Amino acid sequence: MMRVMFKQFLSPKYLVPSLAIGIVAVLTAADAPGKKGVGYTTTPLIPGTKWHVHDGDRPAPPVVTPGATFSHLAPPPSDATVLFDGKDLSKWSGPGGEAKWKIEDGFMEVAPKAGSIQTKDKFADFQLHLEFATPAEVKGDSQGRGNSGVLFNGIYEVQVLDSYQNPTYPDGQCAALYGQSPPLVNASKKPGEWQSYDIVFESPRWDADGKIAKKAAVTVIHNGVVVHHRKEYQGTTPHQQNGNYNKPHAPEVFIQLQDHNNPMRFRNIWLRKLRDYDQP
Ligand code: MG
Repeated sequence: MMRVMFKQFLSPKYLVPSLAIGIVAVLTAADAPGKKGVGYTTTPLIPGTKWHVHDGDRPAPPVVTPGATFSHLAPPPSDATVLFDGKDLSKWSGPGGEAKWKIEDGFMEVAPKAGSIQTKDKFADFQLHLEFATPAEVKGDSQGRGNSGVLFNGIYEVQVLDSYQNPTYPDGQCAALYGQSPPLVNASKKPGEWQSYDIVFESPRWDADGKIAKKAAVTVIHNGVVVHHRKEYQGTTPHQQNGNYNKPHAPEVFIQLQDHNNPMRFRNIWLRKLRDYDQP
């Protein structure tokens, strides 16, 4: 009897569905092909490093507890362009033309399905101040927790994430140059607390032949702690891939705030164009 049953099991009628169930189970257990824990193993190597894009084995930056305040609620200097003063989104546009994020008590908040928003004006080489808060009520983990981003021209991201006791791949944690470089240290505040970014962004330049002549670079101060010091972008910052400088663009770039399906808040956003030395 057993022998008959075994033979029956080996017949294509039983074996094919059993194998299919087995394969699905293995794939589900691994979460997704190439994914390991919080990171990826099958993504390309980042040039000049021994790490894969979103490598979960890359060392997590040490945690530094920032001071209580740094530039939080800093009033804009006299030569600043105010991009958001807590009252309206007139300097911003969204996917349908209008920026449709919520305004509340001096901050803006990502609204469901409102999409990423971006400045109407463009700027080259500047100092940017902004503040953000991740949701006080923690939902999700890794990249699903308090995800947003500050993207220059929509393609060079400084990651925004709830990185307070939230393991993820280090090149995707808060203040990372996404997919390229983790911050020097993790200076994140607790969920719901206001955090500051003071960023100096230098736009990339191309020569007449379309060859990159000067890479984009950023200095980032997160809650009063330097987390990048004139760090060059290796190119654009896509997910699971190495970026590049294949598409030259004007040095003037818009600033984008990312909708990543988390109710992130932003306030007090202003910018100063960098000047040259010895200019009147
Ligand atoms: Mg992001």
